[in-house]
Amino acid sequence: MAGNKFDLIVIGAGPAGSTLVSYLKASGYSIAVIDKSTFPRDKVCGDAIPGRAVRILEAISPETQHRFAQFQAKRQTKGGTAFAPKGAAFSLYFKTRGYISKRIDFDYFLYQEARLNTDATYFLEENVQSIKMEEEQVRVQLKGQEKPLTGKLILGCDGANSIVARKLAGRTVDAAHHCGAVRAYFKNVCLEDNFMMEFHLLKGYLPGYFWIFPLENDLYNVGFGMLSKEISARKINLRESLQGIIKQVPTLRKAFNNAEQIGDIEGFGLPLGSVKRSISGHRFMLCGDAASLIDPATGEGIGNALLSARLAVEQIQLCFNADRFDAKFMKTYDRKVYEKLWKELKGKYLIQRLLKDRSWLLDWSIRLAANFPILGRVVGKFI
Ligand SMILES: Cc1cc2nc3c(=O)[nH]c(=O)nc-3n(C[C@H](O)[C@H](O)[C@H](O)COP(=O)(O)OP(=O)(O)OC[C@H]3O[C@@H](n4cnc5c(N)ncnc54)[C@H](O)[C@@H]3O)c2cc1C
Repeated sequence: MAGNKFDLIVIGAGPAGSTLVSYLKASGYSIAVIDKSTFPRDKVCGDAIPGRAVRILEAISPETQHRFAQFQAKRQTKGGTAFAPKGAAFSLYFKTRGYISKRIDFDYFLYQEARLNTDATYFLEENVQSIKMEEEQVRVQLKGQEKPLTGKLILGCDGANSIVARKLAGRTVDAAHHCGAVRAYFKNVCLEDNFMMEFHLLKGYLPGYFWIFPLENDLYNVGFGMLSKEISARKINLRESLQGIIKQVPTLRKAFNNAEQIGDIEGFGLPLGSVKRSISGHRFMLCGDAASLIDPATGEGIGNALLSARLAVEQIQLCFNADRFDAKFMKTYDRKVYEKLWKELKGKYLIQRLLKDRSWLLDWSIRLAANFPILGRVVGKFI
């Protein structure tokens, strides 16, 4: 580092930011990483670490793969069971390993991996006051710091409320492509299989679902999420709904008979990837939630956060090799992200739209699928 001058400024050291920094180990770029938190820190989530995230994480290096295998604070999951509004159940068994891990642990693992990149200088518990884009550089002023940091490129990895997306891409919340969700931890929930995630699709709460994801040590991540537009239109209180669902749905009432809630019910937003957005521009790129890449049907965002970070690394290399950081050149990044993800995101959006207010369709299709349990293993081979 030469004073406050860097090649790259990464805002956010969550899954997207930390993965990006890990992939840049030994690249030689000087990197400033800014996060408003210190680590370990929690993040409101369902804690399901999808197979895509595992694959990208393990590809960082054989050493990372080895350390992730040793990382204890995770539980492997066999798959997931979807419950239709009238109770029919269908299970999918995943081919690719997925895990459930409290984000306080998983994100800390990623953060520690990133810190092995000795070309990165960390600014933790620092708040960004302003971002000023200039022709030859970007200036980031931290609150309470005298001098701004400057970089050739800024990476917005700062999550759902990204300041980079707001300031540089003019992003606002679009309730039709945004979800609200809450989660709480419970002990002593009684599940049929403690290695399967449960997704409960409920009449009156579509599009959305109630989930139970089993962690280690008899702990369960329990949550409920819905499309933000529907939450406002139907004036739904997510916290009250979570508690109400547990009391009202007979199978859940039974599962939670001896359960004990640990801690508060907490909520956060999910920017969905159901519309294409501009995710780069002159001297900037957005990754993960800042780029709004969350699966519109399942709410999974960690896998796409890691994928976008990996693709941003490719673009960073192109930029420095060509010494080009203009908006037109950066568009290769948008193209690559959507080439990988758009078909899948569009398909999931279609499912989300199709199931809105059609609980009968869910009942019918899940009941039908339940007659062919082998389907769950065949389809799961592709997940
Ligand atoms: C209730 C809920 C349940 C979910 N369940 C799942 C799930 O089970 N599986 C799944 O795959 N996805 C799930 N998601 C989505 C998932 O949490 C996100 O997609 C994922 O965290 C995206 O990673 P990220 O690195 O882009 O952002 P984040 O994880 O949000 O990390 C952003 C980082 O940036 C920092 N930051 C933010 N603003 C600033 C700022 N102004 N200055 C400096 N630093 C800043 C934050 O402190 C944070 O460390 C869920 C989301 C919610 C809300």
